[in-house]
Amino acid sequence: MSQPKLLSAGRIVTCEDGVDLGAIDDGALLIDGGLVAAIGDREQLLAAHPDVEHEAHPGVLVTPGLIDAHTHAVWAGSRASEYAMRMAGADYEQIAEAGGGIVASMRAVREATVTSLRDDLEARLRRMASLGVTTVEVKSGYGLDEENERKQLEAIGALRSRDDLPALVPTFLGMHALPPEAQGDKLGYATRCKQWLERIAADGLAEYVDAYIDRSAFSVVEARPVLERARELGLGVRLHIGQFADVGGAKLAALLQAASVDHLEHISEQAAEALAEAAIPAVMLPVASFSLNQAPPPVEMLRRVGMRFIVASDANPGSAPTESLPLAMAFAARLYGLSVDEVLLGATRRAAASLGSEAGVLRVGAPADLVVWDLSHEREIIQPWGSSRVRRVLRSGRPLSRP
Ligand SMILES: [Zn+2]
Repeated sequence: MSQPKLLSAGRIVTCEDGVDLGAIDDGALLIDGGLVAAIGDREQLLAAHPDVEHEAHPGVLVTPGLIDAHTHAVWAGSRASEYAMRMAGADYEQIAEAGGGIVASMRAVREATVTSLRDDLEARLRRMASLGVTTVEVKSGYGLDEENERKQLEAIGALRSRDDLPALVPTFLGMHALPPEAQGDKLGYATRCKQWLERIAADGLAEYVDAYIDRSAFSVVEARPVLERARELGLGVRLHIGQFADVGGAKLAALLQAASVDHLEHISEQAAEALAEAAIPAVMLPVASFSLNQAPPPVEMLRRVGMRFIVASDANPGSAPTESLPLAMAFAARLYGLSVDEVLLGATRRAAASLGSEAGVLRVGAPADLVVWDLSHEREIIQPWGSSRVRRVLRSGRPLSRP
């Protein structure tokens, strides 16, 4: 175990409880055993720990490590040609009908090995770390049969013990799309997903189960048995709902006490009220709606009924071709009108809470997962786009591997 260390900075944003961000100007924190052992005023902490190594970052900002709560980061192949088609006017649902979209990634994943999926994922995680991300939720959903869904989850599992990469939270998303061999039989496919789930849960390969509930994906009736079984098995539920149409996913999410509902470009006020009542946060995915040229979710209404926001990258090879949570944060502010506080809490504390993680805040006892930015104030995180402004990124007090 490494020696205790003091890290000081011009401004430390703790993202601790409450609506404000809990900023400490000229602050410091003591890192010991991978955890935050003390946090507060720089001079006081230096005086209290005169013999401890001191890493000083005068004038710059420290925040909790960023938490990306919605990604499809374990994939193979490329969908660049489809992207070009989409830019030329084809829409996402038309591309899916023509055998592109998720099914194109399915073919590539089925041809890949666990090792190659793992290596591609590792490279993406290193690039995410270089952008300040210390925890990443990663979904399966490009295998669409038991062997290949497991292959994706095993690739994630192979990197979970690596303390030089972001922490990983695996999610089983068998109900992402219908594979061609199912020949349109969504209920039959859902029944098979439920059987795969039994073995995936028994082998500890997933912590959450997700389903894509939408007009061109799965219905509530099809998804419900799989998700109910997930809850019985002690797994959490996260749901893609309302990306293209509100088909009743919100009510099911409330019933199942989902950990999050994601997308929500199309959602009624009544459905949003049910989600707010159940204290289920909304995961905003602005890179996807930007890429698909969609109108944003009804953020004003969601805020009015009391929903809390998470911001995530949706990193995937089709609708959100990015690995950058800071880009999603910038878009959440510019395109969705989220405040700086909403954006930052949505990429730290609230994201972590939805994943059952202790990270996402800087307080005594929390993991020392943090970012030292080459910026002086949190409002600057969402403003300089397209280049990393991360000086240091620590997970449990240790630097993460970068590209
Ligand atoms: Zn997604």
